[in-house]
Amino acid sequence: MDFTEEQINRYSRHILLQDVGVEGQEKICNGKVLVVGAGGLGAPVAFYLAAAGIGTIGIIDGDVVDLSNLQRQIIHFTADVNKPKVLSAKEKINQLNPDVKVITYQALLTADNALDIIKDYDFVVDGTDNFPVKFLINDACVLAKKPFSHGGILRFDGQTMTYTPGNACYRCLFHSPPPPNAVPTCSQAGVLGAIAGMLGTIQAAEALKYLTGVGELLTNRLLSFNAKTMEFRTIKTKHSDNCPVCGSHPTVTQLVDYEQATCELKSKNE
Ligand SMILES: [Zn+2]
Repeated sequence: MDFTEEQINRYSRHILLQDVGVEGQEKICNGKVLVVGAGGLGAPVAFYLAAAGIGTIGIIDGDVVDLSNLQRQIIHFTADVNKPKVLSAKEKINQLNPDVKVITYQALLTADNALDIIKDYDFVVDGTDNFPVKFLINDACVLAKKPFSHGGILRFDGQTMTYTPGNACYRCLFHSPPPPNAVPTCSQAGVLGAIAGMLGTIQAAEALKYLTGVGELLTNRLLSFNAKTMEFRTIKTKHSDNCPVCGSHPTVTQLVDYEQATCELKSKNE
């Protein structure tokens, strides 16, 4: 890959990094990342990945921009209210970095389309806010042997881990989705807007680390923080042989759409 003078200038702060350099930037520019959800987490993830020069960014989200999204979903502006989120996100990415190819899916990720969509990408980022889709992303990535970053935020808390084949998956830690309505979503319980940025930028960094091979990923580790105390904790995790999807006797061998409580439907993929 031959960088133009403009690209060398644009990516100079990456190229200056000894661990990244021209070679690392080439890997970033050839990388393909799927962002599931163009909401609180997906917004900073997509923005930073676009700025970094990721070659192809896929964005899947079935929602339109709502005024209440703007408190944290920084890729959407006031004029975008009622516009499909994937379209709004694509416009901002194109303005930020015309090098990036954006592929949009104005749909929900489901058991029917998940494997077909993720197969084209190197890395998947979970930017959703509901458990059925989080488990679906995990199962699809485990079955397809795709690395992904899990992320969850609520109120003042954030939590993230990175899966790569052979290491602990989300189900190794949390066997199955909680019953509908057992855990509130951000649209029910609220979230401090900046928390989305704190967690989303960690997820974007994990995607860039994976593509460049720099550093140690959050594999077999669950990072959580509370913004009230600003304390970060990392818990060691490990692959579980009893895991329903990646254990030695898996019970999840194909994708399932888990039941979603009616009142949460509107916030899917947020
Ligand atoms: Zn597992």
